[in-house]
Amino acid sequence: MEISEKKISRILNPTAIDLGDYVINPFRGCAYGCLYCYVRSNRVVSRIGKPWGTYLEVRINAPELLEKELVKNKPRAVLLGSTTECFQPAEGKYRLTKKILEILNRFQVPYSILTRSPLITEYLELLKSGLCRKIYFTINSFGQEWKNLFEPLTPSFDLRKNAINLLLKEKIPVLPYFSPLLPGISHYKNIFAEIPLAERVEFESLNFNLPTINDIIKEITLIDEGLAKNYRRIQQEPDFYNYTWKTIKDNINKQAQACGKSFEIYIHKFGGYFENKYGA
Ligand code: SF4
Repeated sequence: MEISEKKISRILNPTAIDLGDYVINPFRGCAYGCLYCYVRSNRVVSRIGKPWGTYLEVRINAPELLEKELVKNKPRAVLLGSTTECFQPAEGKYRLTKKILEILNRFQVPYSILTRSPLITEYLELLKSGLCRKIYFTINSFGQEWKNLFEPLTPSFDLRKNAINLLLKEKIPVLPYFSPLLPGISHYKNIFAEIPLAERVEFESLNFNLPTINDIIKEITLIDEGLAKNYRRIQQEPDFYNYTWKTIKDNINKQAQACGKSFEIYIHKFGGYFENKYGA
């Protein structure tokens, strides 16, 4: 992992998504390097020319810049972590996200956060400011062999579930976000019971429109050829695609009803095009 420090010229980047007018990413790159990460296909990232997950630029002047930018321009809301993990191991050393949260609290700017790292629980007091609108905490559940393939370096699912339970206990607005749902791989049925305080869980299907989908299927072949064939069918046959996701949705629905919980499942369109909506 190559870690470098960099001074940047802007930290608030405009975005069209509805979670904020701007995104904030204190790092470029990500130490976790998930196989299905949509940022892998980002134009800016491709131009860097290094494999995703092998480098991390630490934007060391991010807090200082943020303070200056907020004096000129107060956003309605911002989103943290659209193209990186703000609470990855380097945060433990640099504490950039911590400083950013302190500044957002001081300037009274509401924020949402995308994360999959339990390190966020170190900032409980900052998150209790009332400005944290929502933490979308990504979770999944599959055996170690699949984890080694898809996201070998991320914190374990148990640690993440514990972190979600702790945040919920502390009344921090956290939404367990089960993503990506991997047909035949993700064990999604017990998730409602495993996060007992969560009234709602949201799910997102694997995006078969990812530019890297063929690489993903190739990797699945190395572990389970039959399953990889199934993935090819899902990728190529609209009826099978719809059948697969409907079956999964029905199963989740049954489970949610049994536990008295609500859920939403976002299913990407068959044959749609991939767009990285969060920007660099
Ligand atoms: S943690 Fe998030 S940003 Fe990092 S590689 Fe995984 S999906 Fe991408």
